[in-house]
Amino acid sequence: EVAEFREFDYFVLALQWPGTFCHRTDHCCSSNACCRRSNAPTEFTIHGLWPDYNDGTWPACCTHESFDEKEISTLLDALEKYWPSLSCGKPSTCHGGKGSFWAHEWEKHGTCSSPVVHDEYSYFLTTLNVYFKHNVTSVLKEAGYVPSNKEKYPLGGIISAVQNAFGATPLLICKNGAVEELRLCFYKDFKPRDCVIGSTGQSFVLSSRSSCPHYVSLPIPEY
Ligand code: 5GP
Ligand code: 5GP
Repeated sequence: EVAEFREFDYFVLALQWPGTFCHRTDHCCSSNACCRRSNAPTEFTIHGLWPDYNDGTWPACCTHESFDEKEISTLLDALEKYWPSLSCGKPSTCHGGKGSFWAHEWEKHGTCSSPVVHDEYSYFLTTLNVYFKHNVTSVLKEAGYVPSNKEKYPLGGIISAVQNAFGATPLLICKNGAVEELRLCFYKDFKPRDCVIGSTGQSFVLSSRSSCPHYVSLPIPEY
């Protein structure tokens, strides 16, 4: 039986910072082999496109559809580059098996994206398009926030740079003072919206939801 899910309210585009993710040896097998295999880019890569509810919860595993890599064969080059898996372990899929990072994201989140996204191919194509249209790495670079293993940057400055570029407040997640994820939020028509509801913007993000200190780093991957 497939449970009934109500339609989601908005999308989260979750981006990961490989320099931070690849520092977590627990996410990778020996010597961060996965990070090395994918050449751990010095730019945000895609974690997933997630449908969310306004109350802070989200649906997951909404249909019986399972991932089929053949459906996205024309997108594989782009996905390997911009949506690499930096973990060696195979994540669980919705139906008890193990699969790729892409399989996990499509089955857990993609299947809940109806009626905006209705099949696997459109889930991956849509996510790539939204990612290309919102180049956070270049927005930060233009504001002077370049990847570095020495510099620390003001969290408020990073948030402002994204707000100025896209007109909405992102959500940042940190690990040991380094940016691990940056999430952008969108209405169903992919117009940007704030990631936090009922917030007064930055102060709420800074105080209540952020795991980031006031100064953060954007480390370059090292193995
Ligand atoms: P974490 O606890 O690492 O932030 O999240 C673990 C997993 O829970 C994520 O990879 C994602 O699948 C799901 N998750 C976490 N936060 C959100 C969210 O805000 N929206 C949705 N849709 N899923 C989330
Ligand atoms: P989520 O956190 O999206 O629910 O789950 C992500 C799953 O995919 C986890 O089981 C994680 O181990 C696996 N995974 C594979 N590659 C990656 C990656 O590059 N980043 C993240 N966040 N998870 C990955």
